[in-house]
Amino acid sequence: MKNLEVIVAGGGIGGLSLALSLHQAGIAVRVYEAVRDPLPLGVGINLQPTAVRELTELGLGNALAETGIATRRLNLCNKFGQLIHAERRGLDAGYRWPQYSIHRGALQLLLLRAVRDRIGNENVRTGLRLTGFAQGRRVKVRFIDRQSGSEHRDEADVLVGADGIHSAVRHRLYPAEGAPRFARQMLWRAAVEAEPFLDGQTMAIAGHFHQRIIVYPIGKTRGGKALINWICQKTVSHQPPREDWNRRVAKEDVLAAFGGWKFSWLNLPALIEQSPDIYEFPLVDRDPVAAWSFGKVTLLGDAAHPMQPVGGQAGSQAILDARMLTRALLQTDDVAIALQRYDLERRPPMNDIIERNRNFGPEAAMQLAEERAPQGFACIDDVISRHELDTVVASFARAAGLDVDTVNLRPSYVMR
Ligand SMILES: Cc1cc2nc3c(=O)[nH]c(=O)nc-3n(C[C@H](O)[C@H](O)[C@H](O)COP(=O)(O)OP(=O)(O)OC[C@H]3O[C@@H](n4cnc5c(N)ncnc54)[C@H](O)[C@@H]3O)c2cc1C
Repeated sequence: MKNLEVIVAGGGIGGLSLALSLHQAGIAVRVYEAVRDPLPLGVGINLQPTAVRELTELGLGNALAETGIATRRLNLCNKFGQLIHAERRGLDAGYRWPQYSIHRGALQLLLLRAVRDRIGNENVRTGLRLTGFAQGRRVKVRFIDRQSGSEHRDEADVLVGADGIHSAVRHRLYPAEGAPRFARQMLWRAAVEAEPFLDGQTMAIAGHFHQRIIVYPIGKTRGGKALINWICQKTVSHQPPREDWNRRVAKEDVLAAFGGWKFSWLNLPALIEQSPDIYEFPLVDRDPVAAWSFGKVTLLGDAAHPMQPVGGQAGSQAILDARMLTRALLQTDDVAIALQRYDLERRPPMNDIIERNRNFGPEAAMQLAEERAPQGFACIDDVISRHELDTVVASFARAAGLDVDTVNLRPSYVMR
């Protein structure tokens, strides 16, 4: 048991994982979340085996298995649905832990329930938005009650900003940073109950840099149907309004661009037609920063490394941040040194992923196929060599810390 108190601003995937992790390590933690009654918002998200390992060590392995779909395969296809590259994922790829595709809101609520059970409801304070902080012997933090407008104050030994892409903590550390960087692409996203496609455990990405779809099941439903997450992504010329995870878009807009994307293994227009709500989100990230930790204050998850959603990384990396920050706090009694170590360990690889994702990550193989065979192909080997494909896919996996041996053989970050 460490005599340390931590305030976590933000009860998303990263902040809640941190709360569970600190509690497991015997460190006192209070979570402040701006939303009063968190609802299961969002659509699909992917948890890579490296993050599933951490959540399993936090005692959530069974809950994840009940909620998500263990993804077994990733197919990269061209815009006609022809297979460019297939790879095994999760347990099938030799990891000791599965990869889960899961509803982001269901995951958040699953984590929130566990946090409330373990650290006590009184330590999860919702409806309070961080507005500022000051560092002295301890960190004094100010919040505003979003309903009453009244101010609330608290203090602790450490403040962690896990408050997402619009992080108020980051804004105070980098006041001149401005808005996220828009990559001139829109994402249209939905989750819909439908017949499973392929083997029911495959994630498929089809298309090329300027227009593509990402589709995968995220849950089972009654009557043998699956909850299927789809994302249509397209280059656009207009500047979108500020990003909002809950902004809806008309079906007709999506069908106008993707209405012809009907493959032998997937009827995308039918999925679009059946979707009750379709959300629009601009493809954004932020430039890497030179430091996350400043004295007793640090950043985690999207607040630290907001990245384009390529390669299913953002949620998984937030969970790894949580575990490595916990480990750093356990290793020394000097909080500032611990936060510096966490920063030095995590920031360089995360900044690298931000840059790699801007270059299409492992999906670069699809762009090669589009450039070399825009009308499709009889045999993919005539278009891209196996060596080229392996190079593109394997180099991303290594950079993201996802190669099988690294995940399976490394010692636990926190468990003794
Ligand atoms: C509503 C929503 C829906 C999403 N849907 C998807 C999706 O469908 N697919 C996907 O891949 N990713 C989605 N994401 C992003 C994804 O959750 C993150 O990229 C990733 O999980 C990293 O999580 P995070 O905890 O760092 O950030 P987030 O998940 O963004 O969580 C940040 C949390 O901080 C809270 N917060 C913000 N400002 C303050 C403040 N000043 N004080 C206190 N709390 C604050 C927010 O309400 C939020 O709960 C969504 C995020 C949100 C917030």
